[in-house]
Amino acid sequence: MEETKTILVTGGTRGIGKQVALKYAQSGYNVAINYVSENTDTKSLEKELKEAGAKDVLLIKANVTNSEEISKLIEEIITKYGAIDVLVNNAGITKDNLLMRMNEEEFDKVIEVNLKGTYIVTKAVTKYMMKKRKGSIINLSSVVGVAGNAGQCNYSASKAGIIGFTKSLAKELASRNIRANAVAPGFIETDMTSVLPENIKENISSQIPLKRMGTAKEVAELVYFLGEDTSSYITGQVINIDGGMLM
Ligand code: NAP
Repeated sequence: MEETKTILVTGGTRGIGKQVALKYAQSGYNVAINYVSENTDTKSLEKELKEAGAKDVLLIKANVTNSEEISKLIEEIITKYGAIDVLVNNAGITKDNLLMRMNEEEFDKVIEVNLKGTYIVTKAVTKYMMKKRKGSIINLSSVVGVAGNAGQCNYSASKAGIIGFTKSLAKELASRNIRANAVAPGFIETDMTSVLPENIKENISSQIPLKRMGTAKEVAELVYFLGEDTSSYITGQVINIDGGMLM
C-alpha cells in the first residue's frame, strides 16, 4: 500500500491556499494548515477537507513571522505524520501605497510576512525533507514580482525576493532530491483582490489576453502538479499563471 503523504499549506484557510489544500485533500493527503485570524472557523474547514478526501487534517494557529510558533507547528506535524512531503509557502499580505506615501511599517510588514515568513517556514521544514531525501517546495510569488506594479513597491520586492530565494534553495537542495519552484499568479479572485474597485478590476481584465481574472482553483491545479512526481524534473523555475499577462 502506498504511504499517505503530508502537505503543509501556510495560510490555507482562505483563497488560493484553501483551494490548494482541497486539491491535495482530494488525493488523500494529510493536510496541515496554519493561519493567524482569531475568528477562523476551523471546525467547518476541517469537515470540508475531510469530505474532500483528506486522510487527516491539522489546523493550527501559527504566525509565519514567529519562528517559535512555526517550530512547534512543524514538530507537531512530524510527530503526527512522520514527514512533510510538500510545503506550499502561500501566506501573504498586501499593504499597497505609492512609494512617496508608503511608511516604514507598511514596507517592513509586507517583507516580514511574505519573504521572511517563507524563509522561517522553509528552514524549519527542509530539515525533515533532507532526512527523507525527498520533498517539493512551492512558493507563491506574483507577476508583480517579475514585472513590478505602481503602488506595490513593498509587495513586488517581497515577491521578487521569493524568486531569488526559490532559485537559491533549488540549487542548495537538488542533491538531496528536494525541488523548489515558484508560481507567479496574475490577478486571481480572492479576498486579496476583492478590495479593488469594480472599475479597476474591469480595466485589469480588459488588459489580460484571456480577458478575465483567474480563479484560486486554477492556481491550485498548478501547485498540485509541482508538488507531485509528475513534475519530478522541474526545479528552480518560476511559472506564470496569469491569463497571458506576461509573455
Ligand atoms: P488571501 O485570500 O488574502 O489569504 C491569505 C492567507 O494568508 C490567509 O489564509 C491568511 O490567514 C494567511 N496569512 C496572512 N498572514 C499570515 C501570517 N503572518 N501567518 C500565517 N498566515 C497568514 O490571499 P490569496 O489571494 O489567496 O493569496 C495567497 C498567496 O498568493 C499570497 O502569497 C499572495 O501574495 C499570492 N498571490 C495572490 C494573488 C491574487 O491575485 N490573489 C496574485 C499573485 C500572488 P488568516 O485567514 O488567518 O488571515
